[in-house]
Amino acid sequence: MSTESLRIVWIYPDLLSTYGDRGNLLILAHRAAARGIPVETYEVRSDQQMPTSADIYLIGGGEDGPQALAAQRLLTDGGVHRAVNQGAAVLAICAGYQLFGHSFFAKGAKCSGLGLLDITSDRGVTRAVGELRGDIDTRLGLPPLTGFENHGGRTHLGAHAAPLARVTAGVGNDGQTEGAWAGKILGTYSHGPALARNPAIADLLLRWSTGADRLAPLDDTWADRLRQERLEAASAV
Ligand code: GLN
Repeated sequence: MSTESLRIVWIYPDLLSTYGDRGNLLILAHRAAARGIPVETYEVRSDQQMPTSADIYLIGGGEDGPQALAAQRLLTDGGVHRAVNQGAAVLAICAGYQLFGHSFFAKGAKCSGLGLLDITSDRGVTRAVGELRGDIDTRLGLPPLTGFENHGGRTHLGAHAAPLARVTAGVGNDGQTEGAWAGKILGTYSHGPALARNPAIADLLLRWSTGADRLAPLDDTWADRLRQERLEAASAV
């Protein structure tokens, strides 16, 4: 890995990649390159050692079996823990979000998570499927969150994690709050892929990892149209 480029790792695409999670990697790389930031991307499979010196780590959604396996392998590997301790930024989606917490349920069994976010997940009585929308924590200065959710888990936040958003449509963590953040770790139930619908979150991750206060604006005509359409669709539900 070179040290001059922004390095983005997609964790275990062979296990955790539903609803176009690769899009999050493509969008981040595109938005960095469009600002003249040299970028290198790495897709690290579950049989490979996790690099510890990247700037941004992405982890996607998945079914219970691959989710449990991914958690076990990441705990054994230890690379993500080292990267986070060194200040890496993280975007964790759905199954990836749950496994960043202390524990989660998969196929009826309680599984240990990475413990890098102060959250625990259990199962809800229903599966949460459909459009998700929320007003993001004002401290992050971002427009409303939009996404598609499909999960059986429900998530409870501890004192060291703040909700990413207040739910205005859909379920998220528990029907009230959605996702969590602490330091430079963001977790969300929003698929879509999340960054296609929420490019401002991509730019937040880029600002966190480059230290830039602001980034040059990009032409977001198409992303804005997608957001508008999906936010209206969520209101209509
Ligand atoms: N297996 C987890 C659940 O059902 C996560 C699902 C997902 O990533 N879409 O809660």
